[in-house]
Amino acid sequence: TINSSIGVSVFPDYNNLNQLVRNSEIAMNHVKNNGKNNIKFYKHKYKEKLMNQFGIEVSLRKAISDQQWEIHYQPKFDAFNNLYGFEALIRWIHPEKGLINPSTFIPVAEKSNQICEIGSFVIKHVCSETKKMVDQGYNHLVGSINLSAKELNKKSIIDEIKYALDDSGLNPSNLEIELTERMMINDGKLSLEILNKIKELGVFLSIDDFGTGYSSFNYLKNLPIDTIKIDKSFITGIDKDDGKFKIAKGIIDMGHDLNINVLAEGVETQKEFDLLGSHACDKFQGFFFSKPLSLNQFKEIL
Ligand code: C2E
Ligand code: CA
Ligand code: CA
Repeated sequence: TINSSIGVSVFPDYNNLNQLVRNSEIAMNHVKNNGKNNIKFYKHKYKEKLMNQFGIEVSLRKAISDQQWEIHYQPKFDAFNNLYGFEALIRWIHPEKGLINPSTFIPVAEKSNQICEIGSFVIKHVCSETKKMVDQGYNHLVGSINLSAKELNKKSIIDEIKYALDDSGLNPSNLEIELTERMMINDGKLSLEILNKIKELGVFLSIDDFGTGYSSFNYLKNLPIDTIKIDKSFITGIDKDDGKFKIAKGIIDMGHDLNINVLAEGVETQKEFDLLGSHACDKFQGFFFSKPLSLNQFKEIL
């Protein structure tokens, strides 16, 4: 089957040949970036979006070379209210714009492949900081990092994680890797091979944003997964929405039957926590417990 992505720009709205062609190309790229197989007429906002992304990509080059990063640490708790680990979440500290959240730049970095260099920084940084905390007596602390599909698919990823572990001296059982469901589905075969290799290193694996991808339950039994993170869209307002409650309860029961731990993400209220706790959810993360913290703030509550 042949599909086509078509961009159109109209004379005489744009009466210069170069501009006509350029604008049709911008419209075509918009189609390609939004599911393909469609036809769109040029709109000025497509160009603005493109310029904005290009601007981010250019400034990211400097951010990477100057390491304009800060890692924030969001605590994770078990059902007995013990802090057992954290999720490392990156922030870009832009020299003029200040703190920029990952949702603004990670998607651009993923498209431009810059995510690999950013990810290398995160892996090294988190291993070395976690090791320092372990050495202060927090022996069972587990630090989690997020990996993007592009990082998972690069050949050197196993060596990179292994090197960061060896270099920092961190025990693999103090490290967890979070991957989204979508990544498992896109290339099932490749994922299985790489995930098995990551598991062989001795680190934990968790599935992030569970329930939002193309849920295929097949991978749950085939892949070496330790924890499922129920996406926050099912957790927010769970005490007021019977549908959400039933889905979350179903995920918890299924996880337990498969010997997989279940974590609830984005817990914001006591009621949400109580309800999930009373249905044997194993782990919790969210603003109800703590927002992501700077390293020093995290060490304080640790
Ligand atoms: P994620 O992995 O799903 O991370 C959880 C996001 O939810 C974080 O947003 C966190 O601050 C936010 N969050 C946690 N608890 C609550 C809550 O109770 N309520 C609400 N409303 N939000 C909560 P953040 O830090 O902006 O990160 C966004 C996404 O960026 C992450 O989603 C992750 O996909 C990506 N990301 C962050 N750091 C990295 C990184 O180092 N590498 C890669 N590849 N992606 C990263
Ligand atoms: Ca995550
Ligand atoms: Ca998540």
